[in-house]
Order: sequence, then structure tokens, then C-alpha cells
Amino acid sequence: MNVTGFGFVPIRFMDKIIAYRPLCVYVKCIIRIWRIIVLLATAGWIVSSIQFAATGYAVLQSVIEKENRAAGWFALGFLPPALIWIILLFPLQDFGNTILLIYVGSSLLLLVVLLLPVPFRRDPIIRSPVKRIDERDAVFHRFYRLTKGTPEWNAFYQDHPELKTADEKIRTLPQLQEPGSRSFDPVTSQFTHAAFDMVEPLAKHLDEPDGPRANPVEIGPEEAAARLCGFARHLGAVSVGTTKLNPAWIYSHVGRGPGTWGSPIALNHQWAIAIAVKMDHGMMHCAPENTVITESAVKYAQAALIARILERTVKRWGHSARAHIDSNYRVMCIPIAVDAGLGEIGRHGLLMTPGYGSMVRLAVVTTDLVLAQSDTVKFGVECFCASCMKCVRNCPSHAISNLDRQLVNGVKKWQIDRESCYRFWRHQGTDCGLCIRVCPYSHPDNPLHRTVRWLLKKNRLLVRPAIAFENILYGKHVNNRPDWPAWHAPSID
Ligand code: SF4
Ligand code: SF4
Repeated sequence: MNVTGFGFVPIRFMDKIIAYRPLCVYVKCIIRIWRIIVLLATAGWIVSSIQFAATGYAVLQSVIEKENRAAGWFALGFLPPALIWIILLFPLQDFGNTILLIYVGSSLLLLVVLLLPVPFRRDPIIRSPVKRIDERDAVFHRFYRLTKGTPEWNAFYQDHPELKTADEKIRTLPQLQEPGSRSFDPVTSQFTHAAFDMVEPLAKHLDEPDGPRANPVEIGPEEAAARLCGFARHLGAVSVGTTKLNPAWIYSHVGRGPGTWGSPIALNHQWAIAIAVKMDHGMMHCAPENTVITESAVKYAQAALIARILERTVKRWGHSARAHIDSNYRVMCIPIAVDAGLGEIGRHGLLMTPGYGSMVRLAVVTTDLVLAQSDTVKFGVECFCASCMKCVRNCPSHAISNLDRQLVNGVKKWQIDRESCYRFWRHQGTDCGLCIRVCPYSHPDNPLHRTVRWLLKKNRLLVRPAIAFENILYGKHVNNRPDWPAWHAPSID
């Protein structure tokens, strides 16, 4: 006999109950079984409805993000709840209940595994450099500051003869967004140049003496940090933090930046504010096309404007300050941003923020105004990058190392072949950005990806499954069909 159609107890067993027990025991038993069945059915409805809704959201969000491959894979998530609903609507006796039990049980088990707190090891990715970095050792200095035949040129290549031949070859390539480069377009390349033109005036008078100061206003470290960070956010920064300035992050000598080439840098500031502005996902999704360099230029200009306004504010409060903006640095922005709690450093050598990955551009303001220190963040980047390798696989110049982090000058980090990277930029005519585009942390900051990042931050055991899913859903290799914003589409075929 099977009263309910949800025969959780085999029929022969029920017969034995009827034969050997009084009627009231039999009724009690039926009620108990009925309760279990109702509980199981209710759990089945709830769990399958949640899975159905979550799958629907994931599919919809992927379609909005134009990630059709991911939408297709996510749609498979509709199958289990659909099966459960059929079972619940058309009971299949013992078999159906067994499936229901397995489904509810495995869903709960999965939830427990997902929420398990298994923290990352707290191995600091950055240590203090043994000696300060000379800005003349940065690759950009050679291509944007040195002019052939000048004393600077001769002095540099006398010290670094091994670089001369390779650098000469790079110099034969067209400049970024100039005719001859692969992505040059007579119409849209002007967006880039126009935006970079706007950074130039913002860089004026960066190193002018502070001049006579007003009486310093009374403002404590907490209040100063809170007000400056709040103002920066109001001006468009998506992430901002304050830190004590590690002197190791101040360049030792002028290279690309303003001032006498090779002169020692003395920056009498002990505090820093790091600012990140967000890059547009759609523009970066066309990498390595020229939308990327337009977006870089626009966001460098925006970050520079915010930094300069903060600098003026601090000066008006009666303190010394300097903004460090595109091409006009006295300090290294990325490690300062890490110290100020904006993120960690990824395998591609860029800052990774918790919400936007590397889709940010940075600026820094240094000052002698005492600021409260922001907390640093750790969300598992070094563990994720150790296994991910997606940027390594997709880098067209093979500039990103697949080896473990190396200890160089007291800093443990992944090595980047900056020359190879920059050579590709000159061929392509843009600042490439493929490593930013493909990075799993660059998915848009919405509830779908935020949930994944939150789970990853809690449980390091999820890293490998997350990487496997990333590759299945979004592909191991980048899809090279740019989806141009209409206003930035090529004007010529
Ligand atoms: S910007 Fe391009 S070339 Fe440079 S490291 Fe990233 S992916 Fe490679
Ligand atoms: S693509 Fe992967 S390995 Fe590269 S920076 Fe992003 S998370 Fe790290």
C-alpha cells in the first residue's frame, strides 16, 4: 500500500506494520512518514525554486554582459530544478523520493562547502626594496624622454649598451595611435590624442615651491583622511585610501618625469593618498583595439584632475602636497595603492582591486599632512594568480611569466618582460590591455560576480573549481571580435 504516492517506505514494510501493530501505531507511523514527505517536498520546492531563480539571473546577467557562451552554459542550470518540479508534480513513488532526497541533500552539502571558511595564507606579496628604484630604469623613460644625440641619451646608453640595439628597433615602429600602427584610424585616434592633450595642462606647476603657506588648519589624521577620501569619491574615484608613505616607493632619480634628468629626488612627504578611477568595461572589452588607449587617456585625465584638486585642497589647508599623475611621477603608484588598501598585485604586474580587478587607473597625492592609515586588503589574488594563468595564455607578446614569484631587490613579485610588452604596443598602436580584459577579476561589479568574489575570499579551496568554471563559461582564449561602441567604430575597413 502507498497512501500518498510519495512511497518513502517500501510497500512490503508497510504491510508488516499493518500485520503486527495496532491501528493507532499504524496511523502514527503514517503521520510521521507523511511529515517527512511533506518536509522533503517543501525543501525540494524551495531549493529548486532558488536554483531556478539564480540560474535565470545568471543567464540574464550574462546576456546583458554580451557573454553568450556563459549564458548558454548557465542555461544548463535550469535542468535540475525542472526535473525536480516534474517529480514533484508527477510523483514517481520510491524512485522520485530518492532523487528528491539526493537533490536536497547535495544542494545543502554544496552550500556548506561554499561557505566553509578556509582563509588564505597571509604571505605578504611585497616587501621593502633593498634600494630605491631609479626612474631611468623604467622602460617608458627611454622612449618618451631620451632624444638621440643629447647628453642624456649618450649617458644612458653608455651605462646600458645591452639595451641599445633592441631599443633602436622599437624606435623604428610608429608611435601609439600614429599612422602606420595597426589600430590607427584617422577619425577615432584623435579621441586618444585629445584626451592625452588634457593631461598636459594638469601637469603644469607640479613641482613649484609650496610658497607662503596659510596658517595650517587644525585637522586630525582621521578627519583629514575621511574628508579627502570622501571628496575624491565625490569627484569620481571608485576606490581611495590613505597610507604612511614607504620611502622605498619614492624614485631615487628623475627619469621620465619633469626636472633635471638624473637628478636625485628628495620628497619630504610622509603620507600618501591613492586614488583609483574605473575604466569602462565595454571599451576595455575591445582590447587590444584603440578603444583601450582612448579609455586609458580619458581615465588618466580624470585621475589627474582628482589628484590635483586634492593637492590644492591640502595646500589650502596649509600643508605641502604633490600630485603624481600620468608621466609625472616621483613615486611608484601601484605599491602605494596596495599599502593604502586599494588591492593586491596580480601576475600581470598591475593593481587588482576587489570590485573592478585591474580595470582602474591610478594617481597618488603625497603630503606632509598626517593621515590615518587605511586597512590593507587581501582577497586571495596571489593564490588565484598562482593557478589561473589566463593572462599568460592570452598575452600576445609572451611578456607575462608563468613561473612563480621571484625575489628581486627585496620585493617578491611576478616578473614582466616590459620591453616585449611595449614592443607589442608600438606594433598595435595601443596600450593593448588584453591581460586586463581576460582577467577573471575584470568581470563587471554586479551581484553575480560579486558573489563569486565573496565566496573566493572566504574559501581558498574554491580557487581551482572557480578557474575551471571561468574557462568553461568564458573560454580559455579571448574571442577576437571586438564589439565596438558605435561612436568609436573604425571609420575605415
Ligand atoms: S598589455 Fe598586452 S602585451 Fe602587455 S602584458 Fe598585457 S597582454 Fe601582454
Ligand atoms: S588573468 Fe589570472 S593570472 Fe592573470 S592577473 Fe588575472 S587572475 Fe591573475
